[in-house]
Amino acid sequence: MDFALSDEQRELVNSVRGFALGEIAPAQEQMDVDHQFPYALWSKWSELGMAGIMIPEEYGGSGLDSLSYVLAMEEVASVSQAFALIWQVHVLVANMYSQLGTDAQKREWLPKFASGSKLAAIALTEPGAGSDAGGMRTKGVRDGNGWIINGSKIFISNAGTDISDGMVVMAVTGEKPDGRKSISSFIMPQGTSGYELGQSFSKMAWHGMDNRELLFNDARISNDCLLGVEGEGLKQALTGLNLGRIVFGVLGCGLMRACLDEALSYAKARTQFGNPLSSFQLTQAKLANMAAHLEMARRFCHYVAWMHANDMPCHTEAAMLKLVGTRFAVQAATDAYQIHGGYGFMKEFKVNRLYREAQILEIGEGTSEVQQILIARALGC
Ligand SMILES: Cc1cc2nc3c(=O)[nH]c(=O)nc-3n(C[C@H](O)[C@H](O)[C@H](O)COP(=O)(O)OP(=O)(O)OC[C@H]3O[C@@H](n4cnc5c(N)ncnc54)[C@H](O)[C@@H]3O)c2cc1C
Repeated sequence: MDFALSDEQRELVNSVRGFALGEIAPAQEQMDVDHQFPYALWSKWSELGMAGIMIPEEYGGSGLDSLSYVLAMEEVASVSQAFALIWQVHVLVANMYSQLGTDAQKREWLPKFASGSKLAAIALTEPGAGSDAGGMRTKGVRDGNGWIINGSKIFISNAGTDISDGMVVMAVTGEKPDGRKSISSFIMPQGTSGYELGQSFSKMAWHGMDNRELLFNDARISNDCLLGVEGEGLKQALTGLNLGRIVFGVLGCGLMRACLDEALSYAKARTQFGNPLSSFQLTQAKLANMAAHLEMARRFCHYVAWMHANDMPCHTEAAMLKLVGTRFAVQAATDAYQIHGGYGFMKEFKVNRLYREAQILEIGEGTSEVQQILIARALGC
């Protein structure tokens, strides 16, 4: 087996690392202070072709595969989880358009997503339907040549910025013969009458990323806004979420890397009992676990991303990666915080942000329990 990265992949990692340290790191500090979406940073990032990283070249994208995307993502995630998430949602949705869109939908939306002039979002979660996506109540009803959408969504990322557009909204459009809800995906252009942005949330981390409630009161969209096959929306979204789950594993790696860097340098610099913390075996055990978990999760990320890039079924592997990569990350953040003693409690220390950021990794893109349910199902339970 050849585990070596190609020259192009190494070049990509190096250039993203340079950009992450030079541009994303200072923007992250600013986002922590002003909680504003980083428009200038997004624009520079898009100019490098990163907004359209996986969009086919014929639509203005860079046409790279999932593995290249994952490699670049670790560099971003080790510097800013918030910016990594903004990018992750955008790429996930653009990928749905590439996979499911009609020619006309792809021609209309993909060039805008590739240039970064429009920011993509996906609205699945509702106040009463989180893990149980099938419990959704937002309804789509046929009306002449179009659809009328009614309902509400919650926590939706990227939906309320000045450049948000083309959001994918999931709605119940009927009932299957076995009584289950039939769910479809729709494109919701910004400015659609009856579509309103609700309140944005004040979060414990990921500042600068827009998260809010969305309201649909007789929101009218045309027939051309149906994305993919009517009634297959949930299945299509869950297939698309494989990439999202892989990326959550990578977000975990980025976070672990930052935790290890912070904890190691702090442990070497801080002296107690006349010796640096790094000389104590109990501290070393924490650092060694972080390094081992990071390496394991990273290799598994590359493997599952390679499966995805080669169109191999990877539903269970993506769930395993999400489960393990994010659990390791939470452990790393807890240990890095512990190594900082009382200083970790202070927001002046970077580890404080890392600790807060870690807490959402086991929730977003399907909770750890949901991943366990999926894995157990694959085991025949
Ligand atoms: C910052 C942020 C950004 C988000 N962005 C988006 C977005 O862009 N688009 C979108 O659609 N959604 C988004 N979400 C929603 C996210 O996907 C959900 O929060 C997540 O799926 C969990 O749903 P919930 O919060 O309703 O928790 P619940 O489903 O209510 O779960 C609560 C707890 O119960 C557990 N639980 C639930 N069912 C079971 C079961 N059967 N067995 C065992 N345990 C169970 C869960 O694991 C969890 O621990 C975002 C959320 C956050 C916080």
